[in-house]
Amino acid sequence: MSDPVAFDKVSLLRLAFKGLSDDELQEMATVTHLSAYPPDHVLCHEGAYEDIFYILADGNAVTTKHISEEEGERVLRMAGRGDFFGEMALIQNAPRSATVRTTTDCTVLEMGKKDFETMLSRSPRMAISIIRSTLDRMRANDQMAIQDLQRTNKILRQLDRNKLEFIQVAAHELRTPLTVLKGYVNVLRSFPEIKTNATLNEVIGGINKGAERMHEVVNMMLDVTRIDSETLKLVAVPVPLRSMINDIARDFAKSAEERTIVVNIDHDPETPNINGDPTLIQKAIYHLIINAIKYTPDGGTVTIRTRPITMERNTAGVEISVRDSGIGLDAEHHELVFEKFYQVGDVAIHSSGKTKFKGGGPGLGLAIVKGVARAHNGKVWVESLGHDEVNFPGSCFYLHLPIHPSQS
Ligand code: ADP
Repeated sequence: MSDPVAFDKVSLLRLAFKGLSDDELQEMATVTHLSAYPPDHVLCHEGAYEDIFYILADGNAVTTKHISEEEGERVLRMAGRGDFFGEMALIQNAPRSATVRTTTDCTVLEMGKKDFETMLSRSPRMAISIIRSTLDRMRANDQMAIQDLQRTNKILRQLDRNKLEFIQVAAHELRTPLTVLKGYVNVLRSFPEIKTNATLNEVIGGINKGAERMHEVVNMMLDVTRIDSETLKLVAVPVPLRSMINDIARDFAKSAEERTIVVNIDHDPETPNINGDPTLIQKAIYHLIINAIKYTPDGGTVTIRTRPITMERNTAGVEISVRDSGIGLDAEHHELVFEKFYQVGDVAIHSSGKTKFKGGGPGLGLAIVKGVARAHNGKVWVESLGHDEVNFPGSCFYLHLPIHPSQS
């Protein structure tokens, strides 16, 4: 398309760049040329390195950004006469951050990268005008992204509540028949014909063991819903932390021995007692230790340490760490393992024993630990060099709890 008289360009440029002198507008007009495009023509391709700056003279265009395979494209803004685009990639020497597509027949003023840079260096007012409009656009994009996040968070919170409600209902529904089943098993056990029959006794023992394990899982489901609920009120009483840890470790002594795993306990003599909910703290430490045993191969080592620490805002606390010489954990899972039902790797290939190597679990243990830490104003995290079932780099879980949860 041939350029019309320079005046048309100048009046358009005046609309696009407020406050520029006639000389500046005139100079800019000489380095631009007019082009016409049909509807649905892509002026800027997201991800591509392109070097043209556009000022829309006539028609409309839409700016979109690719979000994901599932969500497709998102409209960022609609452009009309006097709007410009394509400057961000030129200033940053970066690929286009979005796609601009004409939605009607369009006439645009185009400026090449070299001329654009010359104009920018020559006219600080043009530079400021572009910066201002780019910042406005970025702020609008930010605002849109924040609103998106707020909406998504609301949906996620609701989904999480639904999930908790489901877990709670499922756990209650399973608990009643399980109790009945265990009752009948006890009745059966008392029959002399079963007492004296080794095979039947073994069968009954098997049913009982299965029911016990299911009961444990159901209790974990109830724990997670109770700990996760925002209404959990902590009743803090003195907790003899060191002896509690010794007792839990003693309970695991037999399973550890069966798997030739050495469990070391190393309490700093200065480790104080803390205040908190003893049942919850007991559960958190139990899950950390059982996991350490579960994810460590036979012949490995688990070391439980406690020491006094100073927590955020200078409050006194304790650190409980559980280090193992097991399979380790890749960094991408370090936060996610604390989510409900999150498990690493193929759940189907887990063995089923509670303390067997890579024994199966419902994926709730660490969610409980996180809930307990949060309820006490503490924190939990894991450090590991990564997953490696040849060299076994191990993992170390840290649990920080304040001495007085209410003061933290
Ligand atoms: P699970 O019932 O599967 O053990 P958890 O919530 O206790 O559930 O743990 C979640 C996941 O975190 C586990 O499936 C496992 O992949 C990983 N994990 C937990 N503890 C360890 C550990 N000590 N070493 C390596 N991986 C671990």
